[in-house]
Amino acid sequence: MHSKIWLSSPHMGGNERKYVNEAFDTNWVAPLGPNVNGLEQDIEGFLRGNQGDEVHVAALSSGTAAIHLGLILLGVKAGDEVICQSMTFSASANPIAYLGAIPVFVDSEPDTWNMSPEFLEKAINDRIARGRKPKAIIPVHLYGMPAKMEEIMAIANKYEIPVLEDAAEALGSHIGGKMCGTYGRIAALSFNGNKIITTSGGGAMVAHETGLAEKARFLSTQARDAAPHYQHSHIGYNYRMSNICAGIGRGQMEVLPQRILQRRANFEWYTKVLNKISAIQLLQAPEGYYSNRWLTAALIRHSSISRETLRLSLEKVNIESRPLWKPMHCQPVFKDAPFYGDGTAEKLFEDGLCLPSGSNLTDEERSRILEGITSVFK
Ligand SMILES: *Cc1c(COP(=O)(O)O)cnc(C)c1O
Repeated sequence: MHSKIWLSSPHMGGNERKYVNEAFDTNWVAPLGPNVNGLEQDIEGFLRGNQGDEVHVAALSSGTAAIHLGLILLGVKAGDEVICQSMTFSASANPIAYLGAIPVFVDSEPDTWNMSPEFLEKAINDRIARGRKPKAIIPVHLYGMPAKMEEIMAIANKYEIPVLEDAAEALGSHIGGKMCGTYGRIAALSFNGNKIITTSGGGAMVAHETGLAEKARFLSTQARDAAPHYQHSHIGYNYRMSNICAGIGRGQMEVLPQRILQRRANFEWYTKVLNKISAIQLLQAPEGYYSNRWLTAALIRHSSISRETLRLSLEKVNIESRPLWKPMHCQPVFKDAPFYGDGTAEKLFEDGLCLPSGSNLTDEERSRILEGITSVFK
């Protein structure tokens, strides 16, 4: 049996060890230290992009923690409603439930597969008519493809509802140079093991206001007031990133531009070699949209072969592929939540498959993938 080809696996650059060793050598083995501060600055510099967006970053233990603290900082409380993209990973929506708030799910649109601006506005109007104006909006940039942020921000500004951007999959993606993660009042990044860069586990909260990033650092370290003893006037969390993980992150930030090019090269390769299989349609970027192509995602349509047939055939030859995220409004745990849409996300879920997309795929692995796919469509 050939070795396993993963959907997306960690890809170290080399300098990660240098930063981690520094942490050991100086005994900064704690959820604070020079690597944590350094990583925050690295991300701030990267997100500035060519538009010069000034943002402030708090390095945290996960992307989920970033969304949780983000919602707290936006003032979401028990019983409030929060609008969330339905087609996403559960971590976009779970923090709404942590707070005792209620998720209101919005469908995808077919161009980017992300939050439909049309159904977003319908949802807002309907919730307002019920006397339940939403407290926040969570759009997601799935697989690295930016959501229609100009439209979404225009609607959010019109109704004066803050946006918490889930940019966990989209570090390095942008629309006309404006980076994903710099649109919302707050944004979340993830450095989990399968993301475009990893700290083994970790995340970050991004904010335009320096005060919000400072508050995130405060809440993530148990909300200790300035006093010699342990004094608390807020509920705190243990969500700060460790200096060891941040060391990995500093090394990974050095190679992020390369990782984006490598992932994008995977997409270009799939585009070229799958060109003749008309049943496979890859997610295309709208004009001016730049995706980091974290995962290359495809729809399998107009064919007797379903996405599940393809997935199982690849699995037989030890190649991992995965259905698109199952929409949250179809998940048993969120079955009672309101939903606004027309079935687009459900249809995408039925037909969609993510193909192996690691930045470390070898030519030999690519040949195996191509052979695996073409043998099904013979
Ligand atoms: C990975 C991911 C998260 C959660 O990040 P963690 O660091 O794993 O907690 C949130 N949203 C989306 C869309 C993700 O892909």
